[in-house]
Amino acid sequence: MQIVGISTGSTVQIVDTFGLPDGVLEAIRNDQYNVGEKLEGTEGIYSPSSLNTPPQIRQLTREHYDDLEEEAVTRVWSMFGTAVHNEIERAARASGKDTAEARLFAKFEVDGKVWTISGMLDNMSPGMLDDYKVTSVWTVMRMDRLPEWTQQLNVYRWLSAHASHVQYEPGGPMEEWVTEDLPKLTINAILRDWSFREALKNDKYPQTMVFQVNIPAWPYDQIEEFMQERIRIHQLDPVPDCTEEDQWYGGSKHVLRKLGNKRAVKTEDTLEGILAYLDKKKIVAAGSGLQAPFGTNEADLDQTMEMRGFKKGEFYVIERPGERIRCARYCNVAQFCPQAAAEGTLITQKAYGRNNSVAIRIPTKDAPSTGKREAPF
Ligand code: SF4
Repeated sequence: MQIVGISTGSTVQIVDTFGLPDGVLEAIRNDQYNVGEKLEGTEGIYSPSSLNTPPQIRQLTREHYDDLEEEAVTRVWSMFGTAVHNEIERAARASGKDTAEARLFAKFEVDGKVWTISGMLDNMSPGMLDDYKVTSVWTVMRMDRLPEWTQQLNVYRWLSAHASHVQYEPGGPMEEWVTEDLPKLTINAILRDWSFREALKNDKYPQTMVFQVNIPAWPYDQIEEFMQERIRIHQLDPVPDCTEEDQWYGGSKHVLRKLGNKRAVKTEDTLEGILAYLDKKKIVAAGSGLQAPFGTNEADLDQTMEMRGFKKGEFYVIERPGERIRCARYCNVAQFCPQAAAEGTLITQKAYGRNNSVAIRIPTKDAPSTGKREAPF
């Protein structure tokens, strides 16, 4: 049996302050995510992606659901993802081999409580699961989402072998599922910013715009351990703070600049790294004390150094403070988050280019408490 489904999502009200064309806006607003209903006799429902979502985001989303808004323009790439899934699904249907929108449901017990695990598989054929991602070249060059992809596809693998029910249409009837083992897992990454020119110049660059990533298939007991651990974390009361990994914290960098050069001479994680480079190259440089937060044009710092008496060709060192990228730019609940407030995170709303950016800092005193935890939706 081969199954094709769509797995994209939207959980908040979509607003548009940029005057997107009606057709684009409608397509974005129509891209609604439906995780399905929990099975009878279970406490709540988790999808492969909600298992991975930091518990604090889930908690704040539940608490502030009615107040949450998301700019339509930030969902354009998601719309591309949906379009790609729709086309793959349509072609598969036309081939006569496939069934559309198959959402699997299974029960899973953790510490005496039974939960529903539900997930929609992109494309399943005998022994194989293919998942499609529309993503950037950098994502596959850095492979920084490999752990998340591996966890997600293995939960799908578990679902296929343990689900009791399947739903072929959102809200449609539940049918019995015939379980199947899927030992071969593949991510098909469609690279939205792939460049022919870069591919010619750099043999480490993906050589085609569709890049396949083989995902290791975990044994079922390893997948169950992972699901147990995640459900236990989600059930903690109070919910734990987000980790630096959850926040996509990249750490600070130290940068050696040469006055008059547009680009940095050297970038290192630590000042010691820069000092070692200076020593090796026998370069004399001054520590400037200047910082270059996200959005700074670092070449502009030359003017400050010139005012301090520095001359063209002289070297100086600046710091790029680490940014909690998810908090600052991608977390829908950041304005309600006590942790972001306590950490003084500068949240850049509507950051769609330098001229449209509006940065706000959450006042600590206004930070709400996370409140009482409720059962997950
Ligand atoms: S703003 Fe940051 S710390 Fe707060 S919930 Fe979002 S990701 Fe977590």
